[in-house]
Amino acid sequence: MAGKIFVTRNLPGRALDRLSERYEVEIYPGDSPIPGEELLKKVKGKDGLIPLLTDKVDKAVMDRGDNLKVISNYAVGYDNIDVEEATKRGIVVTNTPGVLTDATAELGWALLLTCARRTAEGDKFCRQGKYKGWSPTLLLGMELQGKTLGIIGAGRIGTEFVKKGSGFGLKTLYSDEFRNEYLEQEFGAKRVKLETLLREADIVSVHVPLIPSTLHLIGERELKIMKRTAILINTSRGPVIDEKELRKALKEREIRGAGLDVYENEPEIPKELAELENVVLLPHIGSATEEARVKMADLAVENMLAALEGKRPPNLVNPEVFRE
Ligand code: NAD
Repeated sequence: MAGKIFVTRNLPGRALDRLSERYEVEIYPGDSPIPGEELLKKVKGKDGLIPLLTDKVDKAVMDRGDNLKVISNYAVGYDNIDVEEATKRGIVVTNTPGVLTDATAELGWALLLTCARRTAEGDKFCRQGKYKGWSPTLLLGMELQGKTLGIIGAGRIGTEFVKKGSGFGLKTLYSDEFRNEYLEQEFGAKRVKLETLLREADIVSVHVPLIPSTLHLIGERELKIMKRTAILINTSRGPVIDEKELRKALKEREIRGAGLDVYENEPEIPKELAELENVVLLPHIGSATEEARVKMADLAVENMLAALEGKRPPNLVNPEVFRE
């Protein structure tokens, strides 16, 4: 066998079998995240590591993984990896973009419709036996037709979110460092400053990566700028929103509601947040479709195989380390 690879969880599909044909593959057993101490033990002597987004791959892991050549993340976001440190050491870092775009954009819409039409509340209401008959005022929500959608981060998922919602009669604003001509031409989207977007949007959906400049991008000030009737959706990463401030804004009804797939300190969901009626909570399942998770495994393995063979992997995060 040409080398050793450690995978921090069994992955759906057959991709890991392909890896085992050529390399000695060890998979962490069980269905919960590998404890940090265990990862430190397991990474020793390995040439490649396939971590999940819940695995922190920091300097300590790289110190212990003294033979590590490739870190192939099973996610598009790579905020769990100290990429700068990996680059210093010449370790190739890869991710799995694109194949989870549809799944995550679809989940964003599930959250948005749930918030706007209060379907989670309605489901609970029925199960609790509270439905006693049709009423003109029961669970009134917000109609989407004619409203303004604000996309923060118009990359792959942000763009797909707009595309999937094109039948709802929304006007679209977006804020991104880069111009997105496709969104402008195909959907009449307008690029605006973050502050304008927050002031004008009825729905704000966040799709930026978690990087130093997006940490608490939405905080007290931003929440106060938003309309009192607005809905905030986050399928990106928890720390992009200051969760304490969001909790306050929801409690004081400074915004209408929020739909969250991600949290500041996962898997912890603060009790004070879970007690609120005007928030919909999901357990980080943006990419959780059978299709996406199998394709993510395929891509993670493809990246690993290419990098270990000295070829440029399809989804290289740190091109600086790669010399052909
Ligand atoms: P992407 O790189 O295609 O898009 C990100 C966009 O954000 C880019 O266009 C970038 O220019 C923009 N951006 C960066 N900083 C910004 C800022 N300060 N203000 C405005 N725009 C900014 O990435 P993607 O594939 O669309 O994924 C986006 C993020 O979604 C990932 O980084 C990941 O963290 C998250 N994600 C979550 C799930 C989930 O399970 N909930 C699933 C997939 C991805």
